[in-house]
Amino acid sequence: MAYLILCALSGLAGGFVGRVKGSSFWLWFAVSAVLPILGVVGALLYRVDRDELRRQCESCGKVVMLHDAVCTRCGAELDFPEQAIVPESQVRLPAR
Ligand SMILES: [Zn+2]
Repeated sequence: MAYLILCALSGLAGGFVGRVKGSSFWLWFAVSAVLPILGVVGALLYRVDRDELRRQCESCGKVVMLHDAVCTRCGAELDFPEQAIVPESQVRLPAR
């Protein structure tokens, strides 16, 4: 029973860390619940996608991470771009 509580708490912690880093809450909740402690550490070490430089696929126009070698939508191989797109975290969203 104590183990289940640990899993639940770990899942919540990992989920929140993942969410803050711009990833999926439920993905990291699942990882952290299955692998208590380890999952949370994994979420902490996970790269922050919102701070990564991005670029646009020349074939389909999808914006992918700069470090991606292959487009996640159309599968085109991507050369290192001449122009990168600023990270999502640096784009100011219009005020509502
Ligand atoms: Zn593409």
